[in-house]
Amino acid sequence: MLEVQVIASGSDGNCTVIQLDDEAIMIDAGLSYSKTHKLLEREGVDESAIKALLVTHEHADHVNGVGPIARKLGIPVYCNPATLGSFNPGSVDFSIIQTLQRFRIGNFDILPLPTLHDAADPCAFTVSAGGKNILVATDTGRFTFPLRQALEDADFAIVEANYDNRMLHEGPYPEPLKRRIAGDHGHMCNADSAREIKNTALKPDRTIFLGHLSKHNNTPDIARDTVAEYTGIKRYKIDCLEFLGDTRTVTVSR
Ligand SMILES: [Zn+2]
Ligand SMILES: [Zn+2]
Repeated sequence: MLEVQVIASGSDGNCTVIQLDDEAIMIDAGLSYSKTHKLLEREGVDESAIKALLVTHEHADHVNGVGPIARKLGIPVYCNPATLGSFNPGSVDFSIIQTLQRFRIGNFDILPLPTLHDAADPCAFTVSAGGKNILVATDTGRFTFPLRQALEDADFAIVEANYDNRMLHEGPYPEPLKRRIAGDHGHMCNADSAREIKNTALKPDRTIFLGHLSKHNNTPDIARDTVAEYTGIKRYKIDCLEFLGDTRTVTVSR
């Protein structure tokens, strides 16, 4: 069985687990070990199945828990050299990866894809396992060509829908922060995500999960409505985490 566990998604922390039978990999670890442990337990993930921790970029909401979790689980951390040079998880084993160079961990075939984001060398990951493709793509101001291709090929994709345009512009953030978020190296708004999802909608049974929703500049309802309206996908088929501390398990194949 191939499953994706969305443990956390957003600026309070990000963590996704992809599990094929009794092997799993974790992408990002933005929460403490104890919080992550509790949420993994809730979703029925056996921690001893997790073989590696992959890091997309060095922002705190993606790496805060990397050191403690890698040590507790006794697993290596996979990231590219620039990311490795930009945060300090303490004493852990590293495996160096490069964007657009495929690598393998157990039965997972993984390709890091370039994102556009204000970090040293940020990436997204597309993971092939059990004959299915899974894309985890957040923290990008817009979609790069390889991201588009991966979204087209995905059976399950977490796509960033960080903010609603109007909420961001009318909201409380200072102007420079608004510009950073909305910039080409910031985050994707609901409408941007909707456009990418629509333009790559070749697989009829592809499952879309909206990720990294801002708690100040977005709501799950608005994100789902915008994407449903623009893409024609039925609203109930578009999932996302509903509140802080929410988690989800999605079965990609049985
Ligand atoms: Zn983030
Ligand atoms: Zn980030």
